[in-house]
Amino acid sequence: MATPTYQDVLDLDAGDPLAPLRERFSLPEGVIYLDGNSLGALPGATPRHLAEVVEAQWGRDLIRSWNAHDWIGLPRRIGERIAKLIGAGPDEVIACDSTSVNLFKLLQGALALSPSHGTILTEDSGFPTDRYMAQSVANLASGTSVKAAPRDAIIDHIDDDTALVLLTHVDYRSGHKIDMAAMNKAAHDKGALVLWDLSHSTGAVALDLAGSGANLAVGCGYKYLNGGPGAPAFLYVRSGLQERLETPLPGWMGHAEPFAFSQGYAPSPSIDRFLCGTPPILAMAALESGLAQFDGVDLAALFAKGQAICGLYIELMQDLCERHGFTLASPADARHRGSHVSFAHPHAHAVCQALIERGVIGDFRTPDILRMGFTPLYTRFADVWEAVRILREVMDSSAWQDDRFTRPRRVT
Ligand SMILES: *Cc1c(COP(=O)(O)O)cnc(C)c1O
Repeated sequence: MATPTYQDVLDLDAGDPLAPLRERFSLPEGVIYLDGNSLGALPGATPRHLAEVVEAQWGRDLIRSWNAHDWIGLPRRIGERIAKLIGAGPDEVIACDSTSVNLFKLLQGALALSPSHGTILTEDSGFPTDRYMAQSVANLASGTSVKAAPRDAIIDHIDDDTALVLLTHVDYRSGHKIDMAAMNKAAHDKGALVLWDLSHSTGAVALDLAGSGANLAVGCGYKYLNGGPGAPAFLYVRSGLQERLETPLPGWMGHAEPFAFSQGYAPSPSIDRFLCGTPPILAMAALESGLAQFDGVDLAALFAKGQAICGLYIELMQDLCERHGFTLASPADARHRGSHVSFAHPHAHAVCQALIERGVIGDFRTPDILRMGFTPLYTRFADVWEAVRILREVMDSSAWQDDRFTRPRRVT
């Protein structure tokens, strides 16, 4: 197949029924933003919504807002919106805490259900917080250990001793996507539960938690959900499991009757039991506004667009692979890929800095990965063309070799 031309790419945008969704976001001029998988862009409606919550709700209605504006219901209202994106029931998801804290809560809760306590099986090069949390939970329980295996060999390592499998659905570096239904089945056949980390999946790829037999999941609010920096995360527990799973952080907000102020802890019978303390209302309000950007959107078409953008990027990068030593570090097959694409290059860090200086914002992941995230809500096909054109310029001119691009940064 011939490499697409600029005209082909313009035609893709012109014929894209989802193109107007970009107008829901406030993106700066002169920036091609390909990092929505790390920090989603600002929805145009969010500043107004936050101003309203701050001034009219907090400022004027004060504490009455917990009832009058249903602040108390926000974690569940947001949960219902997320449930639609991940194929879960409306009473199976709640927004709370960070992904890391939610991992801890569900790891600990699930491990307590396992008769053997055995092993927690996880990836040997997944997102580090997942592994740290697994190790902490293992340390707290006697007789439990963490076993780490390569991502593509996890399924072969599930055995009778496995209590719990902890996996990221879409890998943060390669974008590799695991077949959720097949993994759940393999684990359940051995009596183990699977806890899914959906941080790089939610809002970017099709998910069917109910249909694929998933029991437990966590995910992130500030990536594809556009909830703002450090937005609350979410957790999912299948309804039949909720009453059996206990949180190791039994705060008053997870109590069956928080305002009874009773001295004994009695967990809520619902997913509310996984709340710990008072929800951060301003952050929740921003997350709710981020999720509202999915309203009325044909999700199947949206996720198909994400795949098409990734495919276009891979095709356009062919020339840079041949001439400048980039190698695809993501699955070539869209069925096994999330919505970001990584290329390995020995000078990826400097190249990434040079791109950012030219307004193309992707990110670098150690040791040699140039990662581009494609948020189908606001990325245009022409953005991909332009990003590759500028990358070609950076490589052909050796601009990346400048000293200022090699300085390390605290956040990459
Ligand atoms: C982004 C991400 C997280 C983030 O965890 P925080 O507690 O929100 O910092 C966790 N896991 C994965 C796989 C991620 O990609």
